[in-house]
Amino acid sequence: MTSLAKLVLFGSLMTVSCYAQAAAFKMLPWNGHKAAISLTFDDARPIQLDVAVPELNKRHLRATFFVSISKLTRIDDWRKARLQGHEIGNHSVTHEHANTLNKATEETQVEDAKEFLESNFSTSVSIFAYPYAELSPGLLYWVKRYDFAARGWRGEGNLLYVTADSIPDWYNLPSQAVFSSYGAEVYREWIDRALSMGAWTTIQIHGIGDPSTGFEPMPADTFIALLDYMKEQESNGLWVAPFGEIAAYLRAQKIVEEARPEADGQQQKYTWAAPSPFPNGVVLKATAEPGRRLYQNGREIRPDTKGEYRIAFDQHELMVRGAR
Ligand SMILES: [Zn+2]
Repeated sequence: MTSLAKLVLFGSLMTVSCYAQAAAFKMLPWNGHKAAISLTFDDARPIQLDVAVPELNKRHLRATFFVSISKLTRIDDWRKARLQGHEIGNHSVTHEHANTLNKATEETQVEDAKEFLESNFSTSVSIFAYPYAELSPGLLYWVKRYDFAARGWRGEGNLLYVTADSIPDWYNLPSQAVFSSYGAEVYREWIDRALSMGAWTTIQIHGIGDPSTGFEPMPADTFIALLDYMKEQESNGLWVAPFGEIAAYLRAQKIVEEARPEADGQQQKYTWAAPSPFPNGVVLKATAEPGRRLYQNGREIRPDTKGEYRIAFDQHELMVRGAR
């Protein structure tokens, strides 16, 4: 064989073997759903406890509440909401404009709020929403240190929708704000678009009903129509989950997808590291090529009836055995 032919053959073998490794298993985006949506509520407004939480609970939907410490009242009710499955996020101590903060207050706005929330809710709180959706380098520095994901404002065009194949800015994830003038059809369109793009979108809500309940309150019947439509679209493949839960799934998925296998005898070993901080207990869904067997921590992972495997991100490793 000429050396050129050897080179070509070697090259194509390399391609085949790399492809084989890359295709040994495939992560399923959005926890095995077609698209995802998060509802987020800001500023710990009482109307959210009185209307949003009960209406969500009635439909078995879970949401995120970004809390500013200085506006927090009825803490027992908020604790109860968390225990019912809702998520509490950090929305700073006193909700200041970014350009009014200095080096010291940038840190305390992020860190003191986190500490307060973690000790009062007995859970780790590592998601942040920027007050007024204003980012500054100083604020970002601390958010990156204390959180694994943060909610920003709208990007341009499709940036409002995070697609499963993109690598978003974890510290400026987009959201779409509610305005009082929007009718139910606006939100239906947002959900339809997420489903048609296979993407994740986050909605940002303040008040509901009366203007005294918060910034740009959503008419109560529009709010109910939004919840009903989300509930209805679950059967069409919409994953409704809190912001941090979806962000953690996507970030973990990207990390595992980027892991490159090391050959270890007859098996390939994938390893990865988690960012810090990062939530515990993230479980990723995946499919595997026929003939492949997946192992974590020395134990074989069995697929469910749909042929889906559950990969524990916390294990930081995955073994793949079996040839194509
Ligand atoms: Zn706010």
